[in-house]
Formats: sequence, structure tokens, C-alpha cells
Amino acid sequence: MARKTRIAVIGGGIGGCTAAHALLQKGFDVHVYEAQPELKEIGAGVALGPNAMKAMRALGLEQAVRDVAYQGDYQYLLSWKSGRVISKNARADAERRYGAAGCSVHRADLLDVLSSGLPKEILSLGARGAEVDTHGNVAWAKFKDGTEIEADAVIGADGIHSAVRASLFGADAPKFTGKICYRSVIPVDAVPGGPPAHNGTWLGPHGAIVIYLVRRGELINVVAHHDDDTYKHESWITECDRQEPIERYGQWHESLKRLFSASQIWYKWALYDRDPIPQWTKGRVTVLGDAAHPMLPYLGQGACQAMEDGCVLAMALEAMPDDVPGALQLYERSRRPRASQVVLEARARGVDNHLVSPLAALKRDATIWLRQRISPDRGGRGLTWIPSYDPGSRSVLVI
Ligand SMILES: Cc1cc2nc3c(=O)[nH]c(=O)nc-3n(C[C@H](O)[C@H](O)[C@H](O)COP(=O)(O)OP(=O)(O)OC[C@H]3O[C@@H](n4cnc5c(N)ncnc54)[C@H](O)[C@@H]3O)c2cc1C
Repeated sequence: MARKTRIAVIGGGIGGCTAAHALLQKGFDVHVYEAQPELKEIGAGVALGPNAMKAMRALGLEQAVRDVAYQGDYQYLLSWKSGRVISKNARADAERRYGAAGCSVHRADLLDVLSSGLPKEILSLGARGAEVDTHGNVAWAKFKDGTEIEADAVIGADGIHSAVRASLFGADAPKFTGKICYRSVIPVDAVPGGPPAHNGTWLGPHGAIVIYLVRRGELINVVAHHDDDTYKHESWITECDRQEPIERYGQWHESLKRLFSASQIWYKWALYDRDPIPQWTKGRVTVLGDAAHPMLPYLGQGACQAMEDGCVLAMALEAMPDDVPGALQLYERSRRPRASQVVLEARARGVDNHLVSPLAALKRDATIWLRQRISPDRGGRGLTWIPSYDPGSRSVLVI
């Protein structure tokens, strides 16, 4: 009997675990190497669009994710001070248009669902990938402790500061955007007078605040963006003084001020922009998720795209079982144009969300409002091609 194709996945985050599920489902011999001593996520939420939920459906995990998530009836776009509704999207419409509704989930809960279904023996923890190589019939990964492994394919799913990407293509050159981001998770019960009435994005001068419930509605996830060219530290886990966001958004809607007053811990990081990279694959090594297409968080698509990658990678390898380098090219061909377009749209959205001139902001809001009414199937911001995608369908392979 022919031996199974061996796939080494470097990185056990959202993308790596999704890929591992998808590859196991297709019968590959998968091993995941994670740098941390345990599979663990930062305390924050993640919004999963219809495209991500279709990835979970393809892996048989949709219900398990929905069981720990929150699903509101509507998603709102609101004006920062007055709370005026700019647009409103119904979950039922998303189900009808895209074949699945999105939801929001605590990252730790999502990773629990993704990792609990993986057999323990396919995980190596505390394994920090350092270098990769590919020759002829084999790919290698070398770890920081000097260990080496070989496989038929190595997949770099090791996040935004990917060692695999650097080893394949050299160091990247991120550009500081002059924008920063705060995040916090606040228990709903702690908010005086109750949480803001609507889940969604508040657009204001110099920034935006995104709030949504997670953990079946027990917690509120807050991501607050702002222009600030003085802070340049790119890390998701650096705490800041809680007074800073409270003061910074002191003029925003009263329900947001009440929400912020109940916060305890805030994290702050600087947003860096990276151009889409022109190549993901060399021989038997490729990258996925943030390692392949790091993007600004304005579309809430980083994790969704990583999930799409995992599903499509497994389908490509299944389609060309006797030609691993060809299958990795098929994966890249099928995924890179779309993910690169999402990177560029996220960049544009960052500019559009931070408009300072009241006139420009009014024009933006009116355009969104009008488009939503005239052409609801195109959406207020014209990006319905993102949720429409079904990463579980073989039709997405560019054969
Ligand atoms: C504030 C914020 C909000 C966001 N909100 C959303 C959202 O609402 N929706 C959405 O879709 N996306 C969102 N994203 C983006 C999303 O979190 C990322 O795009 C997603 O986590 C990428 O998954 P990944 O598996 O590629 O990388 P990661 O989640 O970063 O996982 C990488 C894994 O690799 C491990 N690792 C790192 N280096 C090595 C190494 N050398 N060797 C072995 N293992 C290694 C890490 O420990 C980690 O476990 C948000 C991001 C931020 C910062």
C-alpha cells in the first residue's frame, strides 16, 4: 500500500489548525508544530463571516463553533457621536444571499473547537520553526532547538512574523500606517446601564470602534482604531493604561463611554501595512494565513482568509495526490489573487473608516446608505464577493 503524503504544518493557530482538520479529513498524514508550550489564544474576539462559516461547515465544525459563538440578528454601521444608523444588515439576509450567516466568537473558544478535534499525537508543542528547505522529493523544516524534520510538504502557518515566509523569501518590510488599535473584552454584566444597543462598527473622525458579543453573549469584544503616529510597537499583547482609550474616545456616544468605563485591561498595538507578496510557494513549501497575506484588521478577514486557505490547500492536494509541488501551485493559483485583493481592500477600508472631514464622512455614509437601498445584493460597501465565496466547494480551485 502506498504511504500517505506527509504534511508538516508549522504553527498551530487558527489557520494551522483549520488546515490540519482539512488535511486529516482528506486522509493525509499531518503533523502540526507549534512554538508555544500549549495551543492558546489571546483573550479577544474574532468575527467569522459567512465565508469562514462555510469553511467550518466543510470540516463538520459549524455547529460546534455556533454553540460557543454569538449570533446577533443585525450588524450595524453607526455614526460615532449621535449613534445614527448608517446601515443595518440582517443575519437572515446573509443566510439567504451567501448560504451561511456569520457569527462572533472568543478566539480561545474557537481554538478549543479547532484543536479539540485534532488527535494529540499529531501535535508537537514548544517546536519553533526556524528555517525551511525544499529539494527534489522532500521538504525540510529546521527548528530553533536544532531538530530537523522532513515531509512531502511543509506549510508555514506561523502568523504575521512568519519564520517560514522569511526563510523562503527573505525579511519583509512593513510600513507603519500611522494608525493604532486598542482592544479589550468586557463582561456584559459589568456595563453600567447595559451594553450599547447595537453590535457593529461606529465610524468617527480619526478612527472607528468595532464592538460585538462573544461567548454566547456573555462578553463584549471591543476593537478601537485611531490615528496616532507616535506609537510604533507591533504586538497584540502589550497592555496600555486603561485611561488612554477612555480619554481618547471621550467625545464618542454615551453608550460607548459607559462601555469603556467598565473595562479593565486594554491592549494596544501599532498597525503595519504589507504589500501582497508575489509568491507563496517554492517547491514543496508554501504559506497560509497571516504568513501568506498579513492584512490590516479593517475587514475582519484575517482569520476568515486563513480558514479559506486551509480548506483550499487540502482540496488542491487531494486533486493532485501524485504531484505535491503541482498541488501547492494549484493552491497558490486558487488563493493568492483573492487573498491579495482582500489585503488591498482592508487597506482602503482603513482610510475610509478614519475620515476626518465631516463633509467627506457624510458623503461616505450617504453612499453606503443609498447603495444598501438601491442594490442590497451588492451591499453598502460593495464587497459581497468576500462572503459569497465557498471554500468547501471544488469550484474555487483554478485547475
Ligand atoms: C485586533 C485584531 C482583530 C482581528 N479581528 C479579526 C476578525 O474579526 N475576523 C478575522 O477574520 N480576523 C481577525 N483578525 C485577524 C486574525 O486574528 C488573524 O488573521 C489570524 O489569527 C491569522 O491566523 P494564522 O493562523 O495565520 O496566524 P496566528 O493566529 O497568528 O497563528 C500563528 C501560530 O503560529 C505559531 N507560531 C509563530 N511562529 C512560529 C514558529 N516559528 N514555529 C512554530 N509556530 C509558530 C503561533 O504561536 C501561533 O499559534 C484580527 C486581528 C487582530 C490583531
